[in-house]
Amino acid sequence: MSKRDCYEVLGVSRSATGKEVKKAYKRLAMKFHPDRTKGDVALEEKFKEVKEAYEILNDPNKKAAFDQYGHEGVNQQGQGGFGSGGFGGGGFDDVFGDIFGGGGRGGAQRAQQGSDLRYNMELTLEEAVKGVSKEIDIPTLVHCEQCNGSGAKKGTEAKTCGTCHGQGQVQMRQGFFAVNQTCPTCRGKGKIIVDPCHKCHGEGRYENSKTLNVKIPAGVDTGDRIRLSGEGEAGEHGAPAGDLYVQMNVREHDVFVRDGNNLYCEVPISFTEAALGGEIEVPTLDGRVKLKISAETQTGRMYRMRNKGVKSVRSHSTGDLMCKVIVETPVKLSSKQREMLKEFEKSCSSSPKKHKPKSDGFLNNIKNFFDDLSK
Ligand SMILES: [Zn+2]
Ligand SMILES: [Zn+2]
Repeated sequence: MSKRDCYEVLGVSRSATGKEVKKAYKRLAMKFHPDRTKGDVALEEKFKEVKEAYEILNDPNKKAAFDQYGHEGVNQQGQGGFGSGGFGGGGFDDVFGDIFGGGGRGGAQRAQQGSDLRYNMELTLEEAVKGVSKEIDIPTLVHCEQCNGSGAKKGTEAKTCGTCHGQGQVQMRQGFFAVNQTCPTCRGKGKIIVDPCHKCHGEGRYENSKTLNVKIPAGVDTGDRIRLSGEGEAGEHGAPAGDLYVQMNVREHDVFVRDGNNLYCEVPISFTEAALGGEIEVPTLDGRVKLKISAETQTGRMYRMRNKGVKSVRSHSTGDLMCKVIVETPVKLSSKQREMLKEFEKSCSSSPKKHKPKSDGFLNNIKNFFDDLSK
C-alpha cells in the first residue's frame, strides 16, 4: 500500500510552521487515540499514520528527506521502522503528556469527564440474526439531579478559588525560575464548593445503577459493538458523560454454525435417500423448508440454500444456508433386514466398480501409491 503524503495526512500546507504541524497533530491524535477509539482497527491505523506523519515532519532531517524524495527518502535514511514500536516513540510523549496526562499547563484543570463503560451482552443466534430489544442494568455513576451536577448544595454556588483566582494553578518562584503548580487549595479545579450537595457529597454525580433499553439491530455478530453516546459514567461536576459500549457475544447454537452471514448445518439422511434421491426437511431460522436431494448423493455433499442465511447488519445482502448431508449407517437391524442387505451387497459384487465410485478411485490410488514405492 502506498503511503499518503505526510502533509495531506495532517491536513496542513507544505509551508506550515512547526507550530502548525504540532497543532494539527494534537488535534488528530486526540481524535484517533486508541484510548478513545477502543479497538477500532481502522482508526488505530489512522492513528499510526498520523503519528508517523508527525514524526517525519517534526524531525528536520526526515522532513528535508521527505520534502525532496517522499517516503522513499525517509526510509533510506536507515531509520525505517516507524509505527513498529507501539505508541509513545521519540518526540511523542512530550506532546502527548499535556493532552492525556491531565496536568494542564495553563488555565484551570477541567472537571473530570465521565469514563466510558463496556457492557458484555450475550445473545442467542436467533436474537443476533433477527434483532432484539434488551433491558440492561448497569452500575455506574449518574448525574446528580439534586444539584444539577454542580456539587454545590441547592441554592448555593461554588466559589471561585481565592488562592489561584480560578486559574487552578499557582506560580512558585525559585530564584530565576517560575514554576507553575496545581493550586493546593482547590486541587486545580479553580472553584471551591463551600456547601456540598448532600446527595453526591460535592461530586456532582453518585453511584447508582441505571436501566437502559438497548436495541440490537438484526445481523450482529460476536465482536460487534454498539456505542451509546453519553450513556457511560456521568462526569464530575457536570462535565460530559462517557459513552457506553455494548459488546456482542453470540452463544453457540445447537444446530447452526455461523460464518459471516452464512449458516452451516449438518443434515443426516438415510443411505437409501442418498442413493435414490428424494425430498427432506431441513431447519432454517424461519422454520423448516424442503430440500431436494438428488439421486446418488455422497456423504458430505454441501447443498446451498440461497438467502436462507443471515441478513447482513452492514449491507442489504443476505447470506446462504449451507446444508451438509451426512449419510447415516442404519443400526439395530433385524435379521430380515440383514439378509436383505447381504442380498443387496451380493448384487453389487458382480460389478463393484459401477456401484462404488469412491472405493474404485481409492483402490486405484492405493495401487498407484504402492507402485510408486516399489520404483
Ligand atoms: Zn449533588
Ligand atoms: Zn485554586
